[in-house]
Amino acid sequence: MEKECIFCNIVNGKTDTRFVFEDDQLVVFKDINPHAPVHDLIVPRRHIRSINDMTDADQGLVAHMLAVGRDVAREREINASGYKLVFNVEWGGGQRIFHLHMHLLGGWKK
Ligand code: 5GP
Ligand code: ZN
Repeated sequence: MEKECIFCNIVNGKTDTRFVFEDDQLVVFKDINPHAPVHDLIVPRRHIRSINDMTDADQGLVAHMLAVGRDVAREREINASGYKLVFNVEWGGGQRIFHLHMHLLGGWKK
């Protein structure tokens, strides 16, 4: 766990952030500044800086993040209308929190 990492603090229950879903590998919570009607963050419990730092051993974890994103989209009933699963990678790619996470965005009106 990185001491100054906000997502490590959230994952470790050091904030009052409510989890939409959690398991042994990751947690899901609502984005504090949503960019879509549904905007959740899928966040591994383990501190990995970005997709650039993903190793071959992390492939199962990233596949699990995708599967959980799909399942949460279904639970939120945005699976049929459609959604985005987004990784921002490093500063130029829009990443501002340097603890790996995937955005689930959807729920726009037709
Ligand atoms: P990034 O730009 O790094 O891909 O996305 C980071 C996201 O985390 C942003 O959409 C931002 O609104 C969200 N965020 C930052 N701090 C917090 C926080 O303390 N709680 C929650 N729920 N979301 C946060
Ligand atoms: Zn972290």
